[in-house]
Amino acid sequence: MTWFHVQNKMSDFIRKIKRVINTALGRDYCPFCDCWSSFRPFGLVPRGHAQCPYCGSLERHRFLLNVYQKHIFSSSASCRLLHTAPEEVLVPVFVQKENIEYVPVDLMPELFPFVPCVRADVTELPFEDASFDWIISNHVLEHIEDEEKCLAEISRVLKPSGSALLTFPVNWEAEETFEDPAIQSPEERLKFYGQEDHVRAYGKDAVKRLERFFDVKLLTGRYFKWPNPLKSIIYDAIKCLNLFRRER
Ligand SMILES: [Zn+2]
Repeated sequence: MTWFHVQNKMSDFIRKIKRVINTALGRDYCPFCDCWSSFRPFGLVPRGHAQCPYCGSLERHRFLLNVYQKHIFSSSASCRLLHTAPEEVLVPVFVQKENIEYVPVDLMPELFPFVPCVRADVTELPFEDASFDWIISNHVLEHIEDEEKCLAEISRVLKPSGSALLTFPVNWEAEETFEDPAIQSPEERLKFYGQEDHVRAYGKDAVKRLERFFDVKLLTGRYFKWPNPLKSIIYDAIKCLNLFRRER
C-alpha cells in the first residue's frame, strides 16, 4: 500500500467520524459548501432544517445536486445544457464542468451578473431545433400560463437523443390539475394554487400532460415533508416531479 492510499483511507475515516459526530449533534451537511452547520427554517409554512446559512441552498437544491451527479456529471462527454430560470446556488456547479457548454436563460438576465445569461422567454426560446443535450427547468412550469407552448419549445430545442429534467410541485392527492383563467389576483392564486405567482396546481395527470411532448420517466417523489400537512391541501403531499426524455 502506497502513502497515497494510506492518506486516502485516513481521510475517508476522518470524514466518517465527522459525519457520525455531526449527525449526533443534530447538524446538517451541505454538499455545496462541503461543511456541517445548523440549517435555518424556511418557507411560507416554515420547515425546520431547510436552508444552509452559508450558500442559501434548500432541500430541493441539495436533492437536485444528487440527481445531476448521477445523471449528468457521471459522463465526461461534451454536452450542451440549457438551464431555465437558473437557481443561483446551482449555477457554479455547471459552470465548473469543463465538458458542459452551459447556457442559462431568464426573463431578467440582469439578476445573474455572475454568469453570461441569455434573455429569453421559455415559450419562445431563441435557439435552433435540436440544439441541447440536456435541459434543466426547476419550478418554472407552474408559473407559465401557456404550458403547451413552453413544453413544445423545450421539446423543439432538445436533441432527439437528449433529456429534459424538469421539476415542479405536484399534489398527488388530486386526480386532475386545477387551473382556472378567472383566478388572477395574487390572493386567489395563493388560495387555490398555493403561491401568489402560480397559475395552476398540478395533480396526478401531470405525467399525461407532459407525455404530449416527451417520453416521461418519473424519477422520484417526496424529498421533504411539510411540518403541517393539514395547513393547505396544495402543500399537502407536494412532491418533486422529474421528467426524463430518452431517445425513442
Ligand atoms: Zn451550503
